[in-house]
Amino acid sequence: MAGLSLKNIYKIYSGNVTAVSDFNLEIEDKEFIILVGPSGCGKSTTLRMIAGLEEISKGELYIGDRLVNNVPPKDRDIAMVFQNYALYPHMTVFDNMAFGLKLRKVPKDQIKRRVEEAARILDISHLLDRKPKALSGGQRQRVALGRAIVREPKVFLLDEPLSNLDAKLRAQMRTELAKLHKRLGTTFIYVTHDQTEAMTMGDRIVVMKDGLIQQVDTPQNLYDKP
Ligand code: ADP
Ligand code: ADP
Repeated sequence: MAGLSLKNIYKIYSGNVTAVSDFNLEIEDKEFIILVGPSGCGKSTTLRMIAGLEEISKGELYIGDRLVNNVPPKDRDIAMVFQNYALYPHMTVFDNMAFGLKLRKVPKDQIKRRVEEAARILDISHLLDRKPKALSGGQRQRVALGRAIVREPKVFLLDEPLSNLDAKLRAQMRTELAKLHKRLGTTFIYVTHDQTEAMTMGDRIVVMKDGLIQQVDTPQNLYDKP
């Protein structure tokens, strides 16, 4: 399956902005990794390099045992969930979830099966014919997750997926995401600046500051000796 190996990874943006420096991490298959740290510390850049949305300036990225530095995003076996959901407003929930599969020429009956299965898992089966504007924030968030789930990726990348939700819904979704991780049995890499999310959701927390890894440990160990 798909652990990840990040070896001496750097991101240097034009203008000589070093966003990520010497990032080294081995991520186990099925692990739930949290990237946490203040705004601007390089979390998103790291995630986007893993996704293939940002070029790696230096270093090596392996997904499983495959070096993917030059592999385009669609061939990396990953799916990414964004903070702003990025749903297509003119499409129904069903079509939003099906869109990526249609592009990949997945057969129609299989698309239907996967969308309906993901909708069941996320409890949005009753919303499949709606347009995004007729959904609540929490429902939109589920659709965005559904769109990733139907791709059946080996690795899930989540970039502050709960930051647009109110506190109550955020608390509920924390629990649900943890359950979803177990149920799917895939590797999760989750970016947040929220301490509660970091301490309650992941197997291990990677604390970043100024583009560098400061600490990597389990929530329990970080809590005991912060
Ligand atoms: P975080 O996700 O932790 O808030 P980012 O990865 O977005 O941090 O940003 C890390 C650093 O890289 C910041 O200093 C940011 O200003 C800079 N940065 C991000 N994207 C770009 C870009 N496209 N061009 C130049 N600098 C960037
Ligand atoms: P097309 O893009 O080819 O015009 P649609 O996007 O309307 O087709 O639908 C693609 C497939 O998904 C069809 O088999 C359709 O029956 C099915 N489908 C569309 N909406 C739903 C839904 N709400 N629930 C279950 N299946 C649906």
